[in-house]
Amino acid sequence: MKDKGKLFVVSAPSGAGKTTLVREVLRRFPDLSYSVSHTTRDPRSGEVHGKDYFFVTHQAFTDLVEQGLMLEWAQVHGNCYGTSKSFVEESLEKGLSLILDIDVQGARQIMDSDLKPVSVFIMAPSMEVLRQRLESRGTDSREVIDLRLKNADQEIRQKNIYDHVIVNDRLDRAIDEICALFASEIGGASRIPMENKG
Ligand code: 5GP
Repeated sequence: MKDKGKLFVVSAPSGAGKTTLVREVLRRFPDLSYSVSHTTRDPRSGEVHGKDYFFVTHQAFTDLVEQGLMLEWAQVHGNCYGTSKSFVEESLEKGLSLILDIDVQGARQIMDSDLKPVSVFIMAPSMEVLRQRLESRGTDSREVIDLRLKNADQEIRQKNIYDHVIVNDRLDRAIDEICALFASEIGGASRIPMENKG
C-alpha cells in the first residue's frame, strides 16, 4: 500500500514573503501540491480563480462550512478563508504531499487534528520591514495595511506553536533554509525542474 502524503502548514504575517518562499518550494519539489483555499476576499489584480484562490460569496462560503466541507476555516483581516476537506484528504490518501498556506487560527485547527502536520512559521526581520513590504506591494489600502500589521503582531506572538520558524531577512538564505527543511521531510535533495535549469 502506498504511504500517505505529508501535510505541511505554512503561516506568516502579511508581507513576510511567504508567497515567494512557497512558490520556490513548489518549483523545486514538483511532487508537492498546493491546496487552493476558498476566500470571500475580492481578487487582487492578477489573481486567478482556481489557481490563487476559489473566490466565493459569503453565502457560498457559509454553505460550504455548514455542509462540513471545510477542513478548517477562519476569519482573517475581515474576510473568510478555508481549506477544502475532500481535496486534502484525497490527496494525502493518494500519497501526495501538500502545502497549506493558512493563518495561525487555521494552523491551530490542523495541529489539533490527527493529521500531524509539519508546521512552519515565516517571519520578517522586523515590523518596520513588514510595513515597508506591505506599502511597496501597493495592493492594499492604508486601512488594510494597518489591520494586517496589527494582526501580524498577534500572529508573531504565537510562532512558538510551530515546529520551525524561518526569519526571512535575506531571501536567498530563507529559500535555502525552507528548501532544506522540505528536503529533510520528504526525502531527497530539492530538485530544480529541467526547464528551469540555468
Ligand atoms: P491574503 O489575503 O493575503 O491572500 O491572505 C491573508 C491570510 O489568509 C494569510 O495569512 C493566508 O495564509 C491566510 N489564508 C489563506 N488561505 C487560508 C485558508 O484556507 N485558511 C486559513 N485559516 N487562512 C488562510
